[in-house]
Amino acid sequence: MTAGRPPVPAYIQKIAPYVPGKPIETLEREYGITDSIKLASNENPLGPSPKALAAIARDVDKLHRYPDGAGHTLVHALAEHLNVLPEQILPGNGSDDLLGMLARVLLQPGDEVVIPDPSFLMYTIVAQSAGAVTVNVPLKDLAMDLPAMLSCVGPRTRMVFICQPNNPTATVVGRAAFENFLSALPEQVVVVVDEAYFEFVRDTDCACGLHYLDATPSVVTLRTFSKAYGLAGLRVGYGVMPAQLVQWLQRVRMPFNVNSLAQSGAVAALSDTAFLARTLDVVHGGLDFFYRELTRRGIPYFPSQANFFLIDVGRPADTVFEALLHQGVIVRSMRAYGFPTYIRVSVGLPEENQRFLNALDKVLAEGK
Ligand SMILES: *Cc1c(COP(=O)(O)O)cnc(C)c1O
Repeated sequence: MTAGRPPVPAYIQKIAPYVPGKPIETLEREYGITDSIKLASNENPLGPSPKALAAIARDVDKLHRYPDGAGHTLVHALAEHLNVLPEQILPGNGSDDLLGMLARVLLQPGDEVVIPDPSFLMYTIVAQSAGAVTVNVPLKDLAMDLPAMLSCVGPRTRMVFICQPNNPTATVVGRAAFENFLSALPEQVVVVVDEAYFEFVRDTDCACGLHYLDATPSVVTLRTFSKAYGLAGLRVGYGVMPAQLVQWLQRVRMPFNVNSLAQSGAVAALSDTAFLARTLDVVHGGLDFFYRELTRRGIPYFPSQANFFLIDVGRPADTVFEALLHQGVIVRSMRAYGFPTYIRVSVGLPEENQRFLNALDKVLAEGK
């Protein structure tokens, strides 16, 4: 793209666009196939929370009204659920919205943001949108390397991202490592702990951002209804942070950023403990199934604390990704993330998991 009219700042021009998972409809249109499955965006294979659907249906006839901009009912339901103060919670149009607000409030051109690499691409995009300089710190054995991240913190560092568990490697930071990191950080740094997959974590040593709500430096915890609650299309996430920081984010928030059906659905989903339990059963059962089956085949994989995991297919991941598409199975190639032979697979329903394995067997046998 060229500069010119209208003039766009150089720091915007250098942003690499976010690449989403391929939608099922796109695959079927492009390849002329039907009955394909998507294990590419870490969505909930059970569908949306039924309680959320009922609440949305109940409230559709109020769509002529503006939403409650403050999200009063949702904020209070979350406060009770999390045992924090309502003043410490800010909902958003997905947790992506919170990332954008944090960048707008906390970052100026030239500030530095420390980001694990590879991790969620939106961290880089929101930091660059504010003209900040991103400092990428390579993972060590697929995990965030907190000592290395700490050594990259300097006088201009304003924000550090911890993706807990990390997307795409599904590893977590332990409590001791997190506490050592936190206590060594200067006060002006805000630690953003993105817990999009928190509900799936089985490692009891995983550090939880909410425990550090009163810490110095400030810790912001981000959560979402997109994954465990099955509401990715509805767009609701939230941040938990010191009340003062909520006040600053309120200044830049779009007045009706969380729509009324999203608020209704999220409140109901929060109380849908049966759905959450079923979701965790499906995801944990699916991971254990994959581990057994891949071990049996001698295919290397990496254990996961999330609802997705990495497989080393031992040959160019882009080729395997393409071949799987022809079998009607959508996953992610990790080449662009620095893992040229890895694919990322989201856990699906048992029949989808089996179908993926059948397709993988076929593709790997053909490639021999
Ligand atoms: C999916 C995901 C999110 C969720 O984003 P929403 O905007 O809430 O849908 C946030 N962070 C990471 C790392 C994710 O993978």
